[in-house]
Amino acid sequence: MTDFRPMRRIRQLLNDEEAKKILANGTHGVLAVSGDDDYPYAVPLSYVYANGSLYFHSAVQGHKVDALRRNPKASFCVVERDEIRPAEYTTYFRSVIAFGHVTILESDEEKMAALRQIGERYHPGHPADAQHEAEKRLSRVLVLRMEIDHLTGKQAIELVNKAAHAL
Ligand SMILES: Cc1cc2nc3c(=O)[nH]c(=O)nc-3n(C[C@H](O)[C@H](O)[C@H](O)COP(=O)(O)OP(=O)(O)OC[C@H]3O[C@@H](n4cnc5c(N)ncnc54)[C@H](O)[C@@H]3O)c2cc1C
Repeated sequence: MTDFRPMRRIRQLLNDEEAKKILANGTHGVLAVSGDDDYPYAVPLSYVYANGSLYFHSAVQGHKVDALRRNPKASFCVVERDEIRPAEYTTYFRSVIAFGHVTILESDEEKMAALRQIGERYHPGHPADAQHEAEKRLSRVLVLRMEIDHLTGKQAIELVNKAAHAL
């Protein structure tokens, strides 16, 4: 079991609920895997956060999938806010990083359920369309599930101070 390291600037740590909310609201993030020749490979992806896991769809081949087949450990970063404050030489940010294990889903039933959820996430309120799309794509895509082992959220110190002043 990995001993995930604590955040040095602990005041900036978001609580679990806020971190999960960022995952739920995000529309893309960057998946980091152990890529070719030990180069880390960080690749942007759409996703859905459901049942406490992250789901992605992917082509059946490629750098990302080869890397995950060799080593299923990955991390996924989502940036919710990046508000540049030029005069302060900083950014008011909020972001999350999830560490976990990625599984390539085998069963059509699980794949369909995840594809429907991805469809519903990006085209909400059209379940019949999402179902149709999922059926069309089922045999042509891989569906990846990342089970989260460790999740942290962090915000800029200025946002921490602002929230404290608002109390
Ligand atoms: C906002 C966003 C959302 C996306 N959503 C999805 C998604 O849900 N599913 C999905 O499969 N793909 C998505 N993509 C595309 C994704 O980033 C990859 O291009 C794609 O998954 C192919 O990855 P691969 O490792 O199989 O590519 P390969 O073609 O095998 O990669 C070979 C090389 O191409 C380069 N490369 C690959 N992708 C990129 C990239 N995005 N930018 C720059 N160089 C690149 C890298 O040098 C890599 O080593 C999304 C991209 C963006 C920006």
